[in-house]
Amino acid sequence: MSLEIIDRVCPFCFQQDKNSYLEISSKVEYSTLTESEVRTIWNNVFNRKFFFSYFRCECGGLYNKEYFSIKSLKELYSKMKENIHTGDKNMDIKTKIHYISILSQHGPFNNVLEIGPDNGSLAENLIKQKVVKNIDFVEPNVEMHSNLKKISKNSIFKNIYEIDDNIKYDLVIGIHVLDHIPDIKNYVSKIDSLLNAEGTIFGVVHDEKSLLARILASRWPAYLIWHPHLFNTNSIRSFFRNVGFKQIFIKKTLNYFNVSYLLEHLIRALFKKELKIFPLFTLSLKLGNFAFMFKKNQITR
Ligand SMILES: [Zn+2]
Repeated sequence: MSLEIIDRVCPFCFQQDKNSYLEISSKVEYSTLTESEVRTIWNNVFNRKFFFSYFRCECGGLYNKEYFSIKSLKELYSKMKENIHTGDKNMDIKTKIHYISILSQHGPFNNVLEIGPDNGSLAENLIKQKVVKNIDFVEPNVEMHSNLKKISKNSIFKNIYEIDDNIKYDLVIGIHVLDHIPDIKNYVSKIDSLLNAEGTIFGVVHDEKSLLARILASRWPAYLIWHPHLFNTNSIRSFFRNVGFKQIFIKKTLNYFNVSYLLEHLIRALFKKELKIFPLFTLSLKLGNFAFMFKKNQITR
């Protein structure tokens, strides 16, 4: 199947903005790549030869004006490898335990939906720590399904739109989900219809106004073919207000890393050199992500 590219309106204010400006541009034009090169870039998080250029809307949001169609995305996402960025499962689990410590202050939760659970390490620990009783998954990547079945006996959805609106959740979780979804307005409105009256949405996204993003500029690793837009704390707040949600919190999160991994990554970003460094010690850093929780806002309906 050949990949389709479509034009987008601003996903934060929903306007066809006229006064946006190009902020981060890709060095390579999409039209110069073959389809197999695009697929290779898609399947490797470190291959940043190409990403769609990012524009700053008047509303403050940062987004790609051109991106893959939903149909093409579905195909691209259907077969990918495990999505751990920290290069190490133990580090991944430490980061997830940190998210659980944030979530547990607002729980426990009975019926939960996790979108994009990937290898399921968050869900597994949420259940183990009794923060969550019952969990369903939406995971487009079928390669992960056998792992997820070990964690929850419930059915696994490939797509959120498959879920009947009569099913209601107390909490919907999406760790690094919203910065992958081009039509966030429709997507969050579907989440809204699956939440009960007091329901909340919790997630983690990259912060495009973080110190790291400002230092690395166009070399910031989150400028990526996978991200049709990137949030900052203001743009996520105004997006959720626009779709009728109320803020519970927005807070910077920690990421756990092996220092060697971090050095390798930094060398790759700055000097484009691949280096393998002997594992050193663990470090936790506020590396340019934030967690958020928003609640259905009964008053504005
Ligand atoms: Zn906008």
